[in-house]
Amino acid sequence: MKVMAVNAGSSSLKYKLFEMPEEKVLCAGNADRIGHEDAIFKISHDGKKEEKVLPIMDHATGVRLIIDALMEKGIVKDLSEIEVVSHRVVQGGKYFSHSVVFDEDTAKKIDSLTPLDPLHAPAHLIGYRAFRKELPDALETAVFDTAYHQSMEEEDYLFPIPLELSKMYDIRRYGAHGTSHHYLVDKAIKDYFGGKALGVRIISCHIGSGASLTAARDGKCVATSMGLTPLGGVMMGTRTGDLDPSVMDYLADCLQKSCSEIYDIFNRKSGLLGVSGISNDTRDIEAAALKGDERAILSAKLFARRIADYVGQYYVRLGGADMIVLSAGIGENSPYFRKLILEDIQEALGLDIDYGLNETVFGGKQALLSKEGSKIKVAVIPTDEELMIARDGYLIKTGGLR
Ligand code: AMP
Repeated sequence: MKVMAVNAGSSSLKYKLFEMPEEKVLCAGNADRIGHEDAIFKISHDGKKEEKVLPIMDHATGVRLIIDALMEKGIVKDLSEIEVVSHRVVQGGKYFSHSVVFDEDTAKKIDSLTPLDPLHAPAHLIGYRAFRKELPDALETAVFDTAYHQSMEEEDYLFPIPLELSKMYDIRRYGAHGTSHHYLVDKAIKDYFGGKALGVRIISCHIGSGASLTAARDGKCVATSMGLTPLGGVMMGTRTGDLDPSVMDYLADCLQKSCSEIYDIFNRKSGLLGVSGISNDTRDIEAAALKGDERAILSAKLFARRIADYVGQYYVRLGGADMIVLSAGIGENSPYFRKLILEDIQEALGLDIDYGLNETVFGGKQALLSKEGSKIKVAVIPTDEELMIARDGYLIKTGGLR
């Protein structure tokens, strides 16, 4: 059975077609810069990569291009072979604690969550409708980035504001990157704990341009760092992460700007970019830091320290830890940043790390960085959100979703 995993963003449409249950990738690619005359369409299959620049003025055109490419290249012979289209949805709010069939009722609920995710929610709905039109017989499913975090207890997800306000406006920690954390925790349990989740405590670190940490016990999330929106938690590429809330009011006063203007600074101009004054990309930060740029060095240390703080918090929350997993763009590819983080936590947690090995792990490699005597295992595991999205779509189709 062919299952298409789709990640529709405001101006992009990423896709990956799987043969399930074998989990074989048949092709992958994306339509980028949707809405522009010089949009980019990419497809890779059978080890070949193709890219063309052309006008893609809306998502429906992007979907049409994908479908046409699949047929032209003989990746599918008949569109009915694609039995499931499974969509990534960033915000599931209070409604979704697991993946569901994407129908009009689901669409209505996602639409009602737009205030919590104005950037992605409209794009998800456009993506859903565009595929519905092109592949009316396929089952569409929705896989939520927040769903994995729905197992948290109130003490972990509530903010200490008046309880009536939390209840009235559904204000709470929803978390993000749940599909990635779920994949990483499952993969860690399978590869390093004999597939037995019971009693296993994992601190999963998804560190990319957006970053979040999750504490999991028995394979389930007990705490996660992102909050109501993806602004909370650890420091990120351009986002502040957690902050004393009074900084908002004080800065608005100092700069004579509105809250929404300050909010924009917190979201787009802070983090690595704001502290370094150079870039939100760790590759640029590392290059500048190695040349002795003081702000680059400071931004890298601050970034690592905020992650170390959360690891410490989750170590306590879990009553110890059996494994720390590092993943996503930075976690998978940056020995420099991994070292900064691990050096900050190794003494307290009794880690014994093979830093020589650390230097060789990037570009999609999985590796155990901790040595035999380390009190907690440390692993780099490449994340695979699309596979998780396809798996859930397949499970819903076959009636096997737990
Ligand atoms: P993600 O959001 O998970 O795709 O992560 C993207 C971020 O990972 C970039 O902004 C960089 O800061 C960082 N990164 C570091 N090394 C690499 C690399 N070799 N390839 C891609 N991203 C990298």
